[in-house]
Amino acid sequence: MTERVIIAGGGPAGVACAIWLHKLGADVLLIEAQDRLGGLQRRSPYENLWIPGVQGRTGQQVAAALDAHVAALGVPVLRGCAVTQVSADGRRVTTAQGDVEARFFVIATGSRPRSGGFTASAKVAIGPGEAMEALDVLDKPVAVLGGGDNAFDQARFVRDRGGRPTVFSRTPPRAQNLLQDMIADVPVIVGPYEADQTAMTVNGEPFAAFGVMYGFEAVIPDGLTPELDNGYVKVDRFGETSLPGVYACGEVTDYWHPCVTTSAAHGIQVAKAISRRL
Ligand SMILES: Cc1cc2nc3c(=O)[nH]c(=O)nc-3n(C[C@H](O)[C@H](O)[C@H](O)COP(=O)(O)OP(=O)(O)OC[C@H]3O[C@@H](n4cnc5c(N)ncnc54)[C@H](O)[C@@H]3O)c2cc1C
Repeated sequence: MTERVIIAGGGPAGVACAIWLHKLGADVLLIEAQDRLGGLQRRSPYENLWIPGVQGRTGQQVAAALDAHVAALGVPVLRGCAVTQVSADGRRVTTAQGDVEARFFVIATGSRPRSGGFTASAKVAIGPGEAMEALDVLDKPVAVLGGGDNAFDQARFVRDRGGRPTVFSRTPPRAQNLLQDMIADVPVIVGPYEADQTAMTVNGEPFAAFGVMYGFEAVIPDGLTPELDNGYVKVDRFGETSLPGVYACGEVTDYWHPCVTTSAAHGIQVAKAISRRL
């Protein structure tokens, strides 16, 4: 099978890129590792208040809408099919369902929460959203590790679900003041700490659950070595990486402030840039 544009990753960036390329008449194939499209939005049971013109939808409903949009337009897509290897020039893409040839390859594989050496379990959530909501926190002490926006946001959600959160931040918290002010009643311990997942203790103090909020890291398909900036794929203003013909969009890139809207917009910019070269 020969496909012109292969997009790896069906989050907002990859979906937007695929929809636009498809509507612009390109021969495109979207490949998503999970069985549903939507990317990180699949993790979010919270209402997404940040997409202009979209109201009253949780992140999970936004994800479902992205999936439905691709299906309704008949965009060629492989769900539940990870890209396992890409040739160094981005032209040969290996998936669980075989190899495909690409004239252009788009990295839209997004980011994942950093684990910091912890292992996800019934008592340990890595990253915000669904995993945190699955923790049993009622009347229980919960250690939230990290000092960014997600740590403070998630500590608030734990408190609001009847848990007893403590935030541990190695350095002075970076979370925006607004979020810090919202949990003025929650203890915030600043300084070095020792968190032991086996004993479920932090600095020797027992906790029923940990929420690990150590930020995110880019997910780059194996075999590709594009130039990076601070761990994220460096792109020019058209979204092309240092590898000719290999583009990237959304949260996997060094793009300024990714969210659903900007990631999708970035995917569209890449689609337009590629369509001009077809
Ligand atoms: C809990 C939570 C709540 C959020 N709330 C909001 C909000 O309210 N508003 C907002 O605007 N943003 C929100 N965000 C951020 C938003 O979800 C992201 O900015 C956005 O999803 C990034 O889109 P993306 O397409 O770049 O990457 P991602 O969403 O990360 O999508 C990347 C996709 O690539 C797939 N993939 C990875 N590797 C491979 C591979 N090898 N082969 C095939 N597929 C692969 C992944 O499975 C994933 O589906 C939230 C994020 C989280 C975690």
